[in-house]
Amino acid sequence: MSRIIIIGGGMAGLTAGIFAQKFGFQSEIYEAHKIVGGECTGWTREGFHIDNCIHWMTGTRKNTDLYKMWHETDALTDDTEIIMSDAFYTSYVGGKKLSMYYDTEKTRRELIEAFPEDKKAINAFIKAVRISEKLKMPVDMPMDLLPKFKMLILALSMLKGLRLMKKYGAMTIREFIQNFHSPMLKTFLTDYLPGAYSAFALIASYATFTGDNGGIPKGGSLKLVHRMAKKYQSLGGVIHTSAPVASINIRNGHADSITLSDGKEVSGDYIVPTCDPSITFSKLMDRKYMPKELAERYQSMLVNAQFQVAFGVDDPCDFLELSQYFDCEPMTIAHTEITRIGVRNYNYDPSFAPEGKAVLQTSVWQEDKDYEFWENLYLNDRERYHSEKNRIAQEMLRRILRQYPQLTGKIRIIDSCTPYTYHRFVGAYKGGYMNFIYSPEVVTAPSLTGLIDGVDNVYLGTQWLQMPGGLPCAASCGKFAIQRIKAAGAGR
Ligand SMILES: Cc1cc2nc3c(=O)[nH]c(=O)nc-3n(C[C@H](O)[C@H](O)[C@H](O)COP(=O)(O)OP(=O)(O)OC[C@H]3O[C@@H](n4cnc5c(N)ncnc54)[C@H](O)[C@@H]3O)c2cc1C
Repeated sequence: MSRIIIIGGGMAGLTAGIFAQKFGFQSEIYEAHKIVGGECTGWTREGFHIDNCIHWMTGTRKNTDLYKMWHETDALTDDTEIIMSDAFYTSYVGGKKLSMYYDTEKTRRELIEAFPEDKKAINAFIKAVRISEKLKMPVDMPMDLLPKFKMLILALSMLKGLRLMKKYGAMTIREFIQNFHSPMLKTFLTDYLPGAYSAFALIASYATFTGDNGGIPKGGSLKLVHRMAKKYQSLGGVIHTSAPVASINIRNGHADSITLSDGKEVSGDYIVPTCDPSITFSKLMDRKYMPKELAERYQSMLVNAQFQVAFGVDDPCDFLELSQYFDCEPMTIAHTEITRIGVRNYNYDPSFAPEGKAVLQTSVWQEDKDYEFWENLYLNDRERYHSEKNRIAQEMLRRILRQYPQLTGKIRIIDSCTPYTYHRFVGAYKGGYMNFIYSPEVVTAPSLTGLIDGVDNVYLGTQWLQMPGGLPCAASCGKFAIQRIKAAGAGR
């Protein structure tokens, strides 16, 4: 039986492991951290659970290929309750409350009522959302392994959606909002994603929600990966945690083993690195092996990360929406100035807080220069790193209280994370929470195979191969690596 060594136990690694076992390989996962899950995680502070990943999960609609994959891996089971809210997000702007409702007709109607001068642009936006609801993510097998007729059927079924992707993918959100006259509407449309993202990202994200395909699995991110780990182990897979891999040992174009950081050498027939490629091609293998296209993306594309603050609240927060944005006194986080804050309310899942209480979170987009700010502080002035993190969290709290004075005396900071936190815990490149910023240049970037020139048995299985990253890309890239090994003729 061929033996596969999987490096990293995040979404990609767990999915790779489950499919390796299903296909008759013997596999082992080596995870650096003390728990599996990688970025798909959560933790508890002062009795409050901070669910730190799933805001929405593409593939919760049952008749999709993606749902099938989630079901095959136990990420979603028949018993998993899917939570859907009324609105994707809500913005308070210029005294108005505007929402991206689940019901697109309600969104259309309310927006036209509020901004009749923008009727044409609103109608075009909603039409684009409705068409995008039909877009499918190909997760059955890698596109280059797909039989030609299947590829054709897939392309035909998504023709309208693909045309739309070309049109809106080519413009940034900042450019897209120029179609609207109302400054309030412009603010509303830029609350959810940064202006540098492609307009298609906004349309497709909202469409995933309105298409009933972007719900939230009850129990949260950590429970989801625990189900997957259990499934993997039930199929005979072995997980080693607190087991950082130090190198992949290549001799004559063949990787015959890995060495763990404690010096132990483990041999395998195939190696599937699912950790961040910035680690694979610096610590584990020579940089020269990095696929050229991937190296170019790391050179030319930007990464998005977040600064986050979590709050524990002695109130059920029923007066808050799931996700809301409002004006705030300007403040600077590293190099980024904000004038609006987003607050997410986690009271939809009672298991996250004691009865009658709730968790709230704020997060602010951070770019490369912000990451460098946090990295520099952490490495050179640890005390200031912590005091700055704390100062910003306090400033956020002050702004939340200005908006919601009824929370006075009931809300406290329970944790905060910088982009560097993600780098420290899972090795995320520049603290990236998915992969590269989904800008117009990125929308059309093709998925990469993960094959490595000059090494015949290392198959990358990471979210960084497929835009825009996120759980579905991580899972499918992990699965695809195993399918490629199988297609190459290996097996029992
Ligand atoms: C705040 C936040 C919110 C998010 N929200 C969503 C969302 O709503 N929907 C969505 O789809 N996605 C979301 N994501 C993105 C999603 O979490 C990631 O895309 C996904 O978890 C990435 O999985 P991965 O396995 O590719 O990588 P990772 O999760 O980074 O896993 C890689 C693993 O490799 C391990 N590793 C690193 N180096 C080594 C080594 N040397 N040896 C062994 N192991 C190693 C790491 O510890 C890690 O566990 C969010 C992410 C964040 C941070």
